[in-house]
Amino acid sequence: MEVGILGGGQLGRMLALAGYPLGVRCTVYDPAPDACAGQVAPHMRAPFDDADALARFAQDTQVITYEFENVPVETARRLEAQVPVRPTPRALELFQDRLLEKQFLQQVGIPTPAFAPIDLENPADALEQVGCPCVVKTRRGGYDGKGQAVAHTLDEYLKAVARWGGMPLIVEAFVPFERELSAIGVRGRNGEMHAYPLVQNHHHEGILRLSLAPAPDSNTLLPTAQEYLKRLMDALQYVGVLALELFQVGDQLLANEVAPRVHNSGHWTIEGAHTSQFENHLRAILDLPLGSTAPRGVSAMVNLIGDIPPIAPILRIEGAHLHLYGKTPRAGRKVGHITLCADDYKSLKRALARMISRASLSLPEWVSF
Ligand code: AMP
Repeated sequence: MEVGILGGGQLGRMLALAGYPLGVRCTVYDPAPDACAGQVAPHMRAPFDDADALARFAQDTQVITYEFENVPVETARRLEAQVPVRPTPRALELFQDRLLEKQFLQQVGIPTPAFAPIDLENPADALEQVGCPCVVKTRRGGYDGKGQAVAHTLDEYLKAVARWGGMPLIVEAFVPFERELSAIGVRGRNGEMHAYPLVQNHHHEGILRLSLAPAPDSNTLLPTAQEYLKRLMDALQYVGVLALELFQVGDQLLANEVAPRVHNSGHWTIEGAHTSQFENHLRAILDLPLGSTAPRGVSAMVNLIGDIPPIAPILRIEGAHLHLYGKTPRAGRKVGHITLCADDYKSLKRALARMISRASLSLPEWVSF
């Protein structure tokens, strides 16, 4: 079984690693010479608009998938003429543009924060629709909190709009959420769908730092989240893993973002669930039976950002699983993660505190559960 993966970052790397025990051989396609998935799988290095290279890539694969949503849609569509691309390129088209994404969410009946496209000739109009405070976001290309700014006044809003000099923008109401959650689901070609438990996510400076799974006290929210996943995936005849980022406000869930791929907040599933998100993604796109998404105990996933701490103290902690991505450390860069698994939250919390101090991880004070 041969799978082609567009993009060769850590998600591609973990997909390729999940393929080995199943006899699935992955090849990654990425223009970057140092794409870290290239350390564990054959790497085709060519631009995303190189028709000849894409044709060769497709020739040797049974199915093509992608590991980041900024792959050009034309690339996916070109490949689709030769070999199945799963999830559908339509998902790329929708979810790489924050406006199309929010409109689609609305269309399938999933609540979102109030939003409006910004008319650069008359930016104040959009603000009138959502009010202040608000968040100005570029429609495309934003990730890890990049390409967005919070504004509390009309003046701040106009400055934020001017900052991106003519790029297509959207403005959203600022949501005073209680916490951020993500819902991760997998859908097979026959429409069978499974969801992982909800995950509680903590961001700092726009980057995910910590995920807890299952999210504490989230059982009552799970049916709603599952229904949202189902609506999204059924509407697209989606095949593969999809992540829906949510804001919790009281007992309401508002959709922030959709990732048509495996997701950082699902890394805990490698050790903390019966079947990892990576394996389930491969099973889905290869039309194999899906695996159980049930958790095994409770897990905490901590991202390693910017640099790699000494590994020995981490490895000494019972239940700690270290994953390094083979990337050169650089400020703000995700270079690895650690998943801690335990039987219950009490032991997990103890182990997490021990790990934070032993490994000198800089998790902010607010981490409490
Ligand atoms: P995003 O790139 O849209 O996922 O945003 C990154 C982070 O910014 C989110 O995880 C939230 O912490 C915060 N954020 C984004 N949009 C909003 C919003 N409308 N209201 C409040 N916080 C937001």
